[in-house]
Amino acid sequence: MDACNSVERELDKLLGRFDQFRGNLEKLDDLIKHIQSTKNGLDGAPPGTQLSPLQAHIISACGKKIKDATQKIATEHKEIHSSVSKVGKAIDRNFVSDFTGTTQEGIFSGNEAVLLNEAISEHLLRQGHVDVADMLIQEANLTLDEKQKEPFLELNRILEECKNHNVEPALRWVQLKRDELQSKNSSLEFKLHRLKFIDLVKEGQWREALEYSKNFSRFTTQIKEIQRLMGCFAFMRIGLENSPYSDLLDPVNWLEINDILARDACTLLGLSISSPLEVSVTTGCIALPTLLQIKQVMRQRQCTGVWSSKEELPVEIELENDYRFHSIFACPILRQQCGRTNPPMRLVCGHAISKDALNKLVTGNKSFFASRLKCPYCPMEMDPKQAQQIRF
Ligand SMILES: [Zn+2]
Repeated sequence: MDACNSVERELDKLLGRFDQFRGNLEKLDDLIKHIQSTKNGLDGAPPGTQLSPLQAHIISACGKKIKDATQKIATEHKEIHSSVSKVGKAIDRNFVSDFTGTTQEGIFSGNEAVLLNEAISEHLLRQGHVDVADMLIQEANLTLDEKQKEPFLELNRILEECKNHNVEPALRWVQLKRDELQSKNSSLEFKLHRLKFIDLVKEGQWREALEYSKNFSRFTTQIKEIQRLMGCFAFMRIGLENSPYSDLLDPVNWLEINDILARDACTLLGLSISSPLEVSVTTGCIALPTLLQIKQVMRQRQCTGVWSSKEELPVEIELENDYRFHSIFACPILRQQCGRTNPPMRLVCGHAISKDALNKLVTGNKSFFASRLKCPYCPMEMDPKQAQQIRF
């Protein structure tokens, strides 16, 4: 954040200078007009006429004015140039462009490369860039079934039509999936009808809107919203834009429907709502500054080899709720985050510790009752074999 602020400060200075420069450029227009009128005055004289002393004086004064103005503008231009380069330097100074050390070499080779290419092509399909996705699938030799592609293509066709305010394809899709959508409490169908109704009202087709409002009868849970829509008829004469319902005309409603449609379609397809690639890149961007700092610290203390574990980051990275997908278990004894190689284990008493901690407790127990384990958190003793792995 500090880095952004210091670049912004330089940028503000530059913009201030630029405004001043623009003001002076306008003065240049006045000067051109002045020259033009002087020239017009001279043009009127017959050929071969000698300049009067006054005319000669006007011309030399005009020449001086031009020289002064151009010199001033050239100086200011130079200053702007130096401000622009200062912004560039501030960016170089404040932002790190060397990301080596925050990733592992060869991390995307072999099978991971295939997975990465699949994630990229899925992202492209989600975004509707079908041609580009096809090209990537072909060049990366991916095997992506046509059946996997079809839902994305259909969704994109529907979204494209929605952008043109045509809700028919979306409504057809929704009606086919009505039961599934209802079981997920989706309000998509109602919202599509509402948009169509508002479009009719907006175009002044009140009779058609009234006819269309019959579609709302099914939506018994949306009574309040339906009342508002019906209230629109009271403002037939003065128009909806002058009524308390003018918010219904907000174009944001159309953007919202695209989001809801995409979200509901992904839920029905069993896909995550946001593209996995997008989520990975965003979380990577959030984590990068911390990782770069850690890298710096490791280099200063000359302990670059410390971070070698593949499944664990050297520090905790705080992410917003939107980017949290899995529960994390940290062992209360070893204070380590559990992973695939060291999963959490549930003891018979119900307390949970990591597998490594359990093994350490068992091997550390040299007593006569070596096959017995006492829970570190309660008095219960048990057979360590009875501990069960916990899966989140
Ligand atoms: Zn216990």
